[in-house]
Amino acid sequence: YDDRDGKIWLDGQLVEWREANVHILTHALHYASSVFEGERCYGGTIFKSEAHSQRLRTSAELLDFEIPYSVEEIEAAKYAVLEANGWKDAYVRALAWRGAGPDMGVASQRNPVRMAVAAWEWGSYYGDAKMKGAKLDIAKWKRPSPETAPSQAKAAGLYMICTMSKHAAEAKGCSDALMFDYRGYVAEATGANMFFVKDGEVHTPLADCFLNGITRQTVIAMLKDKGLTVHERHIMPEELEGFEQCWLTGTAAEVTPVGQIGDYNFEVGALTRDVAESYEKLVRA
Ligand code: PMP
Repeated sequence: YDDRDGKIWLDGQLVEWREANVHILTHALHYASSVFEGERCYGGTIFKSEAHSQRLRTSAELLDFEIPYSVEEIEAAKYAVLEANGWKDAYVRALAWRGAGPDMGVASQRNPVRMAVAAWEWGSYYGDAKMKGAKLDIAKWKRPSPETAPSQAKAAGLYMICTMSKHAAEAKGCSDALMFDYRGYVAEATGANMFFVKDGEVHTPLADCFLNGITRQTVIAMLKDKGLTVHERHIMPEELEGFEQCWLTGTAAEVTPVGQIGDYNFEVGALTRDVAESYEKLVRA
């Protein structure tokens, strides 16, 4: 994956894919001082591109560093990468981090802030499971309190528990894991937000301690446009049994139906299919 042809944008210029390297004493590698974005380009246009660039800058600010590029410059970098690699449909990964420098301890004010943009071709996040309904495990790890970690930052450090949860789920034959939060409420999957349907109304966990995804916000607006009632609220695990349909939202996941969470089953119903189709149309509109 690292030794291949292609171009990556690194600190202001396009470099050869195989030469886009950092030093082993990079602060981010030791202390997770890193933030990133995941975006999808459809037919040459990155969906909600500026919102992603803005979130990258905000995530960095939440981790107490400033990205030395404006939203406009980040936009230009992303499109430069897509053009250099000749892609119109691709996943885009922007990344900013504290580099190597005089500060080798926890503090890193004097180390340079660095940034990269890479892209690659990435099909369905859940593979064949996508329209059949993904199977989710229930994670033992909990989303932390916003007093413990900056939960609205898309920060690398917050993904440690996601990776552990996803590995445990895959070892049990599941595609992903549903995580509860520090209070025990239903929160999100390891890289996607969750929606549930009951009696024709939609319920989604209140994003008060996990990422309020750009796809989540898009889908909520879409549902309201369709005249549906959406409840953003705390959801107890006991309620899972009563929900009829369930889907995941995320840039990589798009709208993916869920067929099973632990011992609870859901149907890939008409509303789930309609939302998935409407989202597919919207991202290419
Ligand atoms: N939660 C987590 C933990 C994620 O990694 C993602 C993917 N960025 C999401 C939710 C969904 O966010 P978005 O819709 O902005 O991609």
